[in-house]
Amino acid sequence: MIGKIRIAPGTKPRIAARDPRDDLGLKDKGSAYARLDGLRVELERLQQRLYAEGRHSVLLVLQGLDAAGKDGLVRKVFEGLNPQSCRVASFKAPTSSELAHDYLWRVHAVLPARGEIGIFNRSHYEDIIAVRMLELVPAKVWQRRPRHIVEWERMLVDEGTTIVKVFLNVSKDEQRVRLQERIDDPEKRWKFRKSDLDVRARFDEYIAAYEEVIEQTSSKHAPWFVVPADHNWVKAAAVAELLVDALEQIDPQLPEAEAGLGGLVID
Ligand code: AMP
Ligand code: MG
Repeated sequence: MIGKIRIAPGTKPRIAARDPRDDLGLKDKGSAYARLDGLRVELERLQQRLYAEGRHSVLLVLQGLDAAGKDGLVRKVFEGLNPQSCRVASFKAPTSSELAHDYLWRVHAVLPARGEIGIFNRSHYEDIIAVRMLELVPAKVWQRRPRHIVEWERMLVDEGTTIVKVFLNVSKDEQRVRLQERIDDPEKRWKFRKSDLDVRARFDEYIAAYEEVIEQTSSKHAPWFVVPADHNWVKAAAVAELLVDALEQIDPQLPEAEAGLGGLVID
């Protein structure tokens, strides 16, 4: 499953040619959620070890167009994990004090510490995509950022962070259904902004911008994965699988217990 969605460094992700309804071999909702349950048990065990060892961290970067399902994914994959060693950061348009610094300043401040799993709901990639599409900075400014980011991520990896970058590939048709649901459901309406329609009107342009940035920034040390996002069960199982795989590669070890504890009875 992972091989199919990993974008090899220097290759085109061909996002538009990928099927957002692909089931990645998971067949149906029932078997995907059964798989997810198993993966979550593994995740919990590995998370506990990651925390106990306190040497490495994992960073999951989530990008995708509106209604690609970033929030729901966070809920689905991480429920049941220990909140003590998870750290979620959601990136909105920068505040004036954030804009008074370089674009990675606010991002760096909320990276996971050693032992933690960090989740970025949107990320520093908005500093290429959003600023480009909304023309917030001149082209020469965003065009040089992929180069910074590849090196910055390399530094994080060198220092002990495993980075998993996920683009949730939702179709324009499924996005319509989900945005309509947001408008129609009073519980969800707060999520909808009229400006989401401006972005939707440029759906293909956004995909083209992602196409470019993913090709430029998928590296051996911090690969991108393009995950089909029309089925919630596919993306949840796929992302859980990516995290388990990342943690297995770290293979965190429990710290040595103090000598002489075996058989010690407390009175
Ligand atoms: P949401 O994820 O729906 O809450 O929306 C957050 C909004 O903030 C999106 O429209 C993003 O494009 C925008 N955003 C996030 N980061 C940045 C950034 N660095 N520069 C400009 N806009 C951003
Ligand atoms: Mg939104």
